[in-house]
Amino acid sequence: MADIYVRGGWIITMDSKRRIIKDGAIAIEDGEIRAVGKAEELDKDYRYHSDVVINNNPHDIVMPGLINTHVHLAQGLLRACADYLPLIPWLKDRVWPLQGNYKPGEALASAKLVTLEMIKTGTTTFLETGLVGRYGPDKIIEFLHSSGIRAAVARHVMDMTGYALEENILHEGLIELGDKSYKDTIRLYHKYHGWDNRIWIWFGPRTPGAVSIELYRKMAEKAKELKTGITMHLAEVKADVEYTMTKFGKKPVEFAHWVGLTGPNVVLVHVVWATDEEIKLLAETKTTVSHNPCSNMKLASGAARISDMLKAGVNVALGTDGGPSNNDYDLLREMKHAALLQPLRTLDAKAIRVEQVLEMATINGARALMIDHMVGSIEPGKRADIIVVDFNKPHLKPFNNPLSHLVYSATGYDVKHSIIDGKLVMFNGKVLTLDEEEILKEADKAAYSLYERAGLCREPETIWPIE
Ligand SMILES: [Zn+2]
Repeated sequence: MADIYVRGGWIITMDSKRRIIKDGAIAIEDGEIRAVGKAEELDKDYRYHSDVVINNNPHDIVMPGLINTHVHLAQGLLRACADYLPLIPWLKDRVWPLQGNYKPGEALASAKLVTLEMIKTGTTTFLETGLVGRYGPDKIIEFLHSSGIRAAVARHVMDMTGYALEENILHEGLIELGDKSYKDTIRLYHKYHGWDNRIWIWFGPRTPGAVSIELYRKMAEKAKELKTGITMHLAEVKADVEYTMTKFGKKPVEFAHWVGLTGPNVVLVHVVWATDEEIKLLAETKTTVSHNPCSNMKLASGAARISDMLKAGVNVALGTDGGPSNNDYDLLREMKHAALLQPLRTLDAKAIRVEQVLEMATINGARALMIDHMVGSIEPGKRADIIVVDFNKPHLKPFNNPLSHLVYSATGYDVKHSIIDGKLVMFNGKVLTLDEEEILKEADKAAYSLYERAGLCREPETIWPIE
């Protein structure tokens, strides 16, 4: 007897042996995975004794839900509003003025759009990098819970207004000085952390240049005391290295370590510019690196040394970043870019394997969020976060190596079913927990009023005439 019985297809378990089960089946009860094995063995107990039976094609792929470790919910409406710019002008002239003009309803519309895109493309858990007060974080968090997704939500913490060596460049609409942002994170923590084991509240300090040493240290201590996480962008561009070297005589990872921002509860995002010593320090401290190859390529930030990090034993996870830097939230597509960037960077075709990329998108992400005891693999006792990928498609034939196809050939829109915490959240490509049409309509409406107010992104940025 099970609530949901998933039968057929190849199961990529991601368990400790990384077993792959052909013609597999999974029984789910009370949100938990009860049994995983061959369908012919489990059928007798579950096939005719389950509330819902999901029958897959023999070549469908069943795998753990994807874990996106770097998401900006508030950037969903900023897609295509900041093309062709490197990071600092991208932030200063486009992204911050738009985000700094948000009204809460518009920020919520952005969060809804991003969440819908993530669920449709196979993400079951994600890490939001930094909400601020003007977005109305409470409503966003409550929406996330109702959508059925699992999320660690970091709130931005800051007490300065610079970015690297550039002082006073943060948009006025995003400035939260003093201890306001810190205190509000604690408030959100007490209100929402641990909600149904699907919502967690993290600290999201802004990048060096916007946070004092004292505040970084205070946050690091508090996060340990509250047993929660911290995530921060680090060493994304060369200007980040110049800042910590000039001001403190330390490389970015050394700086992070010095202020308490290393350890198993810390996710550092990008870490493009890292030396061998810094990579060693990341491995020793069990700090996670969230790799976002599309964003790094588009903003011309550089190519992160991911294959070196993996060799050194760093926990590397995967993220999409946001609407104006990627410009999508499809983690399956991100896997392809992660797999392509290392051979290009190293001129070594063997620089990274698809198995490593699949680990980055699943179990490593779970470890990054400190929930690998709960999700990230398909094994009895874990919560049921499972996606089914439809392989009956031209770009996924012939069926000779499904792992290779998943990373190099599939996109998120090949995911047809999604189960999160034992609940069917998407079936045959339709999200059951959200009104898809309404979210798309709301997104356009909210975006246009935001663009009007900010005076940006009102016309398509193209060199071709539009009549
Ligand atoms: Zn980011």
